[in-house]
Amino acid sequence: MTARRLTRVADLVSQGLVEPEKEAALARVAERFSVAITPQMVDLLDPADPDDPIARQFLPTEAEFVTTPEERGDPIGDDRCSPVKGIVHRYPDRVLLKPTHLCPVYCRFCFRREQVGPEGQTLTESELEAALSYIRSHPEIWEVILSGGDPLLLSPRRMGRIVQSLDKIDHLGAIRIHSRVPVVDPGRITPGLLKALDTGKALFVVLHANHPQEFSEGARQAIGRLVSAGIPLLSQTVLLRGVNDDAETLTALFRRLVEMRVKPYYLHHGDLARGTSHFRTGIEEGQGLMRALRGAVSGLCQPTYVLDLPGGHGKVPIGPNYLARGKGPGKWRVEDPFGATHDYPPAAPEKGG
Ligand SMILES: *Cc1c(COP(=O)(O)O)cnc(C)c1O
Ligand code: SF4
Repeated sequence: MTARRLTRVADLVSQGLVEPEKEAALARVAERFSVAITPQMVDLLDPADPDDPIARQFLPTEAEFVTTPEERGDPIGDDRCSPVKGIVHRYPDRVLLKPTHLCPVYCRFCFRREQVGPEGQTLTESELEAALSYIRSHPEIWEVILSGGDPLLLSPRRMGRIVQSLDKIDHLGAIRIHSRVPVVDPGRITPGLLKALDTGKALFVVLHANHPQEFSEGARQAIGRLVSAGIPLLSQTVLLRGVNDDAETLTALFRRLVEMRVKPYYLHHGDLARGTSHFRTGIEEGQGLMRALRGAVSGLCQPTYVLDLPGGHGKVPIGPNYLARGKGPGKWRVEDPFGATHDYPPAAPEKGG
């Protein structure tokens, strides 16, 4: 295994991960969008395979120079919903808290690719305190979602202070942490970090994973440590052309997650981030994949297929529809998972009155 995380195109060349003749062009890509890959991910990829699903996710390519007119710097409109630095408050009952903009890896399709990276901002102590005050002073906030960047890159000490501060806020019912760390840098899931995550609130971890090949033995063990610490685990996956846009890969991924006690939560349609059109599928392809899974694969393995609307209008399910109006008031026509349709009766009239 290479010993260190690779963050420069020159390092990718010297490790034989990208061809030397591409170095100059890819260095220009890296000026715009941060590059990093962990030794664990390097170990799992085959540089000789042009379709390698790990390489595609983390190694920069010239395709990132292509920007389409509908792509945006802030594809899901985080900025419009940010009342104080580090907070995104889009829905009444929950906020994102983004303590850092650093990630262990930089995914080439990242929806926040123009915000994350070493040049991105990590909250100072006083900015973090202001973000926490915002949460304290808004009793309608029921859940805090630590996002970023990757919050599990924070030191256990800093993470512990954040979790303890949130623990003391009575109106909070849940804390959620969105992270790629357990999969791509599993050694960070230490006893110290697990202790920092100990709280009386319901604390969930949502793993980001896109391909069954991402799970090293180390990742499996790190996920096991989180589960053993009593932390419920969910997952989110981005639908990516050439990585996981086929039913076999998604089935293997979601089964693998469930086998590790991780419940697939969301399958995200690709966001309109700049330079990512080569990764985006059509919505009809995503719906076709969800149809292929329904009925054929355990319900435990079915995430909700969602679109985060450009402009900050929120997430909505965009999965296939099985329901249509039938002939007559209140009647329905319902398609079953095997393709046949059936009538379904209206509700009985309300009694009394
Ligand atoms: C995705 C997101 C959430 C979480 O949405 P859920 O549907 O609860 O998982 C919350 N706030 C913002 C701003 C988001 O982008
Ligand atoms: S880990 Fe998440 S935030 Fe970080 S680069 Fe990947 S998609 Fe973006």
